[in-house]
Amino acid sequence: MKEQSYSKRIALNFLTATAILILVIFTLTFLVVYKTVYNSLDADLEAEYQEIAHGIVILDDQLIFANTGEWSENEHAQIEVNPTFLQVSDTSGNIIRKSPNLMGTSLELLKNENNKIFFNAGLSGGQVRQVQMILTNDRNEKAGYISVAVPLEASLMVLKNLLIILLLAFPFVLPVLYFITRYLAQKSIMPVKILTESAGKIRRENLNTRISLPRQKDELYTLTETINSLLDRIEGTILLEKQFSSDASHELRTPLSVLKGTLELMIRKPHDPDYYIEKTGTCMEEVNRMSVLVDQLLLLARYENEQSPSGLTLISLDDLINNIIARHARALEQKKITLDLNITRDLTVSTNPFMAEQILENIFSNAVKYSRENGTVSIFSGNNGTLTIKDEGVGMSKEELSRIFNRFYRADQSRNSKVKGYGLGLAIAKRFADLLQIVIQAESEPLKGSSFTLVFPLFPETGNNSVPF
Ligand code: ADP
Repeated sequence: MKEQSYSKRIALNFLTATAILILVIFTLTFLVVYKTVYNSLDADLEAEYQEIAHGIVILDDQLIFANTGEWSENEHAQIEVNPTFLQVSDTSGNIIRKSPNLMGTSLELLKNENNKIFFNAGLSGGQVRQVQMILTNDRNEKAGYISVAVPLEASLMVLKNLLIILLLAFPFVLPVLYFITRYLAQKSIMPVKILTESAGKIRRENLNTRISLPRQKDELYTLTETINSLLDRIEGTILLEKQFSSDASHELRTPLSVLKGTLELMIRKPHDPDYYIEKTGTCMEEVNRMSVLVDQLLLLARYENEQSPSGLTLISLDDLINNIIARHARALEQKKITLDLNITRDLTVSTNPFMAEQILENIFSNAVKYSRENGTVSIFSGNNGTLTIKDEGVGMSKEELSRIFNRFYRADQSRNSKVKGYGLGLAIAKRFADLLQIVIQAESEPLKGSSFTLVFPLFPETGNNSVPF
């Protein structure tokens, strides 16, 4: 199908609506004029008929014309200017009297017609409008007919001319209207064209360009604002992606450089076995670091576009926590951390076990990593089905706290400390929590410690976060 421009479509739709409207208006105009012309003619005929009827007296079935002066008036005598034709006939249709302007002709008579009747009739090759009415005697019997007529040509000419004008005007008005509407529609959508062109020029290279806002605060202004804010968001996402790629490459480059340097040292000249053992250990450490980073990157990439979690099952949170604690037993012991565990027994939630474990593992390992020696890490469940992991470690400022879920973000203190990490653990935890509809509430105070509370989603059946609780 051939594509039609928007302005053409508007013009055509408008034209169709207007054409129907004009047709209705023209038809009504014609009908009103038609009715008015005939009403006016019939009113004149009625007046004339009344005058004639009053001048006729019926005595012993004889018609006597009392007002003979009326019959010889100019309008009944001549036919050139506004003639009115009069005719009186008896019941058999014989003409008793007619106005002089009828000369050798007579008005058509509709015999057996008992009512007053208006009709169009022919007269000497022309057309007249005629009224006919019966005359009755004092016994109320039919005594004859009065007919009055006026020429119809002038009125018919008016109606004919009007019809011609309307019929000619209709097809003439339509194209004019179409072009005017198209011009106006084109003018109205010009700002949309400018907007489309400006938006079309925005590429990856000039993604920071914005479309200039129109002067008037109308729908187009809102549309431009919406497109600009969409561009803001796209630009922000692309910048984040760029930042992510550059951070990831940077993080991978560091262990790779260490590996390369160590291996170069190893092959430069022969060394004793202890040297090789020590350097191989360094290489292993770096390979392990890289492997952790690649695992975390793969994890983020795998769940990047996931919309909803799969594999929801009922799991016991205290079992999960106990497993995680067991895995960190050495670190807890090394730092002499006291564990304060206060979880409701058989705390069960419906969730994805792998993701839930990743969330808890990342938060708990941070609590251990950023705790001071001899500190306490508390894990407790709340009345409303929440789980909190609290430490008395280095803590964070408000500004740092607001960025901890960003990928590769590490607070200054963590970067400078010996604590190893890539700033990806909480980004993964947040991504999984969003998928599982778990809310993570983080609170922290520098040098005092941090607490992370997980709020599990409600179970539709019980209205509780967890079952049983
Ligand atoms: P990392 O591997 O660096 O620990 P995360 O994504 O797990 O990465 O955490 C991001 C940053 O948030 C950390 O580098 C640290 O600065 C801060 N952080 C997270 N948990 C804690 C905590 N319990 N105490 C203090 N700082 C924390």
